[in-house]
Amino acid sequence: MVQEKLFEILDNRFGKTLKEASNEEIYLALLELTKNSIKKKGKNRGNKKLYYISAEFLIGKLLSNNLINLGLYEDVKKILSENGKELTEIEEIELEPSLGNGGLGRLAACFLDSIATLGLNGDGIGLNYHFGLFKQEFQDNKQKAVKNPWITSDSWLNKTDIKFEVLFGGFKVVSSLYDIDVTGYNKGCNKLNLFDIDTIDETLVKDGINFDKEEIKKNLTLFLYPDDSDKAGHLLRIYQQYFMVSNAAQLILTEAEENGYDLHKLYNHVVIQINDTHPSMVIPELIRLLGEKGIEINEAIEIVSKTCAYTNHTILAEALEKWPIEYLDKVVPQLMPIIRELDNRIKLKYNDEKVQIIDKDSRVHMAHMDIHYGFSVNGVAALHTDILKNEELKPFYNIYPEKFNNKTNGITFRRWLIHCNNELSNYIDELIGEEYKLDATKLENLLKYVDNKEVLNKIEEIKKSNKIELKNYLKKTQNIDIDENSIFDIQIKRLHEYKRQQMNVLYIIHKYLDIKNGNIPKRPITMIFGAKAAPAYIIAQDIIHTILCLQEIIENDSEVNKHLKVVMVENYNVTAASKLIPACDVSEQISLASKEASGTGNMKFMLNGALTLGTEDGANVEIHELVGDDNIYIFGESSEEVIEHYKKGDYVSKKYYEKTEIKELVDFIVSDEMLAVGDEENLSRLHKELINKDWFMTLLDLEDYIKTKEKVFKDFEDRDTWNKKVLINIAKAGFFSSDRTIEEYNKEIWKL
Ligand SMILES: *Cc1c(COP(=O)(O)O)cnc(C)c1O
Repeated sequence: MVQEKLFEILDNRFGKTLKEASNEEIYLALLELTKNSIKKKGKNRGNKKLYYISAEFLIGKLLSNNLINLGLYEDVKKILSENGKELTEIEEIELEPSLGNGGLGRLAACFLDSIATLGLNGDGIGLNYHFGLFKQEFQDNKQKAVKNPWITSDSWLNKTDIKFEVLFGGFKVVSSLYDIDVTGYNKGCNKLNLFDIDTIDETLVKDGINFDKEEIKKNLTLFLYPDDSDKAGHLLRIYQQYFMVSNAAQLILTEAEENGYDLHKLYNHVVIQINDTHPSMVIPELIRLLGEKGIEINEAIEIVSKTCAYTNHTILAEALEKWPIEYLDKVVPQLMPIIRELDNRIKLKYNDEKVQIIDKDSRVHMAHMDIHYGFSVNGVAALHTDILKNEELKPFYNIYPEKFNNKTNGITFRRWLIHCNNELSNYIDELIGEEYKLDATKLENLLKYVDNKEVLNKIEEIKKSNKIELKNYLKKTQNIDIDENSIFDIQIKRLHEYKRQQMNVLYIIHKYLDIKNGNIPKRPITMIFGAKAAPAYIIAQDIIHTILCLQEIIENDSEVNKHLKVVMVENYNVTAASKLIPACDVSEQISLASKEASGTGNMKFMLNGALTLGTEDGANVEIHELVGDDNIYIFGESSEEVIEHYKKGDYVSKKYYEKTEIKELVDFIVSDEMLAVGDEENLSRLHKELINKDWFMTLLDLEDYIKTKEKVFKDFEDRDTWNKKVLINIAKAGFFSSDRTIEEYNKEIWKL
């Protein structure tokens, strides 16, 4: 069936057989075939609909995942290989959509997959960024940000004829709605709705990612998270946010009216999940639009409050958006009377400054609006939700204990196991059947093999073959050689000081000096990083520079390069993650305890049989509970201790720096070797930062980290015991299926 259809499309479109067709032609034919097959699947339906509004959807390439979800993957793979083609090579033609930044966007993508898979009626709403998040290139051991065009004439994007008007202060724009079909695994489909404007001018972007920030009609949907280090940048982000939510609100009300729903009872038919604070203005916007439809303000506020739910993703202050009234007055003057009214009601009820929406510096706290005027507030891992309740949002928890709930994040196993590690998932099928694909907890059936030497060896063999695939990938993409017999130790995630890539850097320096002193490791170690840094985040740029300099020094040191290798993967994205994660032995999850809300990278690695080296933070806590002390490597001070340090202000990095062992490592950053390949300004800025500030307490846990990591590498040599730990990690990963997470959202918040 599939074969005939594929042959037919290739013949009709290109007049070629499969054997004759180029990879590009095969890709286009598969795109058409898949889209046709999606059309035949019904849309998920229901009397109530979820709208998941998010500034980001880091969806990754879609071809293989759609084929998996439609049940066509194995057939297509077979047909291609019978004709001398490889699906993995066809996949390379597809460009990765650049619609997301990191974990938050990837979570939204996993959620869409699970919502569709569970047959729930729920769509995503976001923006159609033309250049998305910047693309990272390395030049002179530094990150260079360039635009990342990804939209091609034939793609997953469909243009609809839906248009709305969006009014800004002084002018209005007309939107166009695009959508991408979201397939569920063996189930119906949903949509990812992406709004855009037709007047976008891509030629506005000249050098790198610079453009005129004031030409809103031409630049509105060019970039995700445009630089906001100046006022024009701040304003542009508000324009984008309001454009997103005004379109969302209009779409929601249009669909509700089309379905004949009573807007007075909107909450019986609609639930809106506000993903982080970027979509928060949907609350006043919906109130405004209901007002236009003749619903008086008290009732409109009540309707909207019963419709909106908010997810908090971080306790870092920088991410809890506070917009100056002056900016909102300029961009969205029609919303300000409503926001003031919402604020007045709170001021009348509570005189605690900490819970006000508008503070005394005339800034609007978006999260505060979400909490007061939404019916649910959730954190994304057990520890994170506890910190929200007991520390960060305590005054709110005291007012609304019933609103607070936890939804520990998850990942879709379709992408993060079946697709990225097909060999392992096929082997798991052989061992325990396919039930785990719809009920991930069934992975625990693997536990009966913990002492089965043959199974453990096979799992090791699969890991080895994934390591060889990664080796080939890095050779092809960056012309880098790595040794598949070395230990692959991987830290891939956005670059941020709280994630502490800089602590990993200090470990590498430790190892480098150790090898120089004649302590040769039993087995070579390959340290792999992947991380983009926000262009305006200076210290993050300095950390990337330091990693790239170390990579060069170690590569060129013939005493050391046989034993230690540092690789920084360029432009870390979903595609790269899918190659890196299945090949990993040691998963670095070393954030300062209390700072990583959940993490989802940690879950992907666990599922693919890497052991976690991490702090007791985010979902690491839950991984630890599931696998037990023997199957994870935990180090560092606890979140309670860290929170105490912040309260007392008693962490002084210089005290740690003055210990000789630590001083030697930190000072290496500005050593002659480093200065010979690096830039003094960057290196000495990081050096000073670590000694004088170190806000995220790198040096606090450094010694424990080094000690624990040495133990990890030692344990790796007992292959049987290691493989047993690997199997236990895979078997216990079922809890982290996003199907479980979405079932919880639905049962406790959405009630679809
Ligand atoms: C999963 C994922 C992330 C999130 O990683 P964390 O380690 O949880 O921060 C970021 N980027 C990409 C491309 C991912 O796939």
